[in-house]
Amino acid sequence: MKSIVELMKEGPVLGDGGYLIELERRGFVDSGSDRERVGTGRGSGQFTPEAAIENPEALKELHREFLMAGSRVLQALTFFGTREKLTRAGYGPQTEAINAAAVALAREVAGTQALVAGSVARTQLIEREGMGSLGKARDHIGEQIRLLKQAGVDFLILETFFHLAEMKVALECAAESGLPAVATMSFRPLISSCSDGHSPAECARVMSDLGAVAVGANCEQEPSRMTPLLQAMRGAAKVPLAAQPAAFHTTDACHSFTRLPAFPDDLETIQVSRREFLEFGKSARREGIGYVGGCCGCNAAYIRSLARGLHERSAAVSG
Ligand SMILES: [Zn+2]
Repeated sequence: MKSIVELMKEGPVLGDGGYLIELERRGFVDSGSDRERVGTGRGSGQFTPEAAIENPEALKELHREFLMAGSRVLQALTFFGTREKLTRAGYGPQTEAINAAAVALAREVAGTQALVAGSVARTQLIEREGMGSLGKARDHIGEQIRLLKQAGVDFLILETFFHLAEMKVALECAAESGLPAVATMSFRPLISSCSDGHSPAECARVMSDLGAVAVGANCEQEPSRMTPLLQAMRGAAKVPLAAQPAAFHTTDACHSFTRLPAFPDDLETIQVSRREFLEFGKSARREGIGYVGGCCGCNAAYIRSLARGLHERSAAVSG
């Protein structure tokens, strides 16, 4: 298999969709909404990846669906898989097992048809304890990246970071590992700045300066809402853009589905049609996007639409 950097030189690389929300809908992931006020900024929910050891067949099935839809990268379900977050959910002692199993399952399905990426997300320490916990966050992120490297991932996707300061720590840990890293921030409640006050352009510049092979945004917004954010990043990044939008409608007042009252128990009422992903796929090359997939709310139907959009655009260009 070619590396992620080589693949992006040939055109937009199709990633996969969102795992935790889809597996939550199928009954294999706990949202935490029966215990705490998830969403609207008052709780973080659980959404941890223990399905990798408790329901491996369910996870493998979702990987297979994305592969059949055309994904050239499968993300190991290691999102929220730092020891910090797993400990809060009661799975701390299983940190090594969950990360190793998630990578092995993705690899088993990917075979020689897709690359396997290790997903690394924010620890939630900064939101809970403030910037003083950045050192602790570094220890946890560094540990998870070492586990993912041992398990044999091809590259890393650093995603859903709210604070640029924590993303910088993650990129430094990625650089120490020697693994290529795609880096995407999540912007909320508005796309104008991240949680520690940096503009999308500033985030893009910093992430590409720290060695990310693609930089951009994931989660929180639907494609149409995320597009201007990506355009703001494009001029500042020296590398291709990466985009994994969510499949939920946001509003002019709140560009973030996890801050809307529909999260997480009424998400069906704000679901975006897969057609918006087809259109997003068509525009990807023009917008300078090198890596494109979906985040929360995107099952295989959305990835098939993205694949069709990418293909229709290429066919129109060559025809
Ligand atoms: Zn998401």
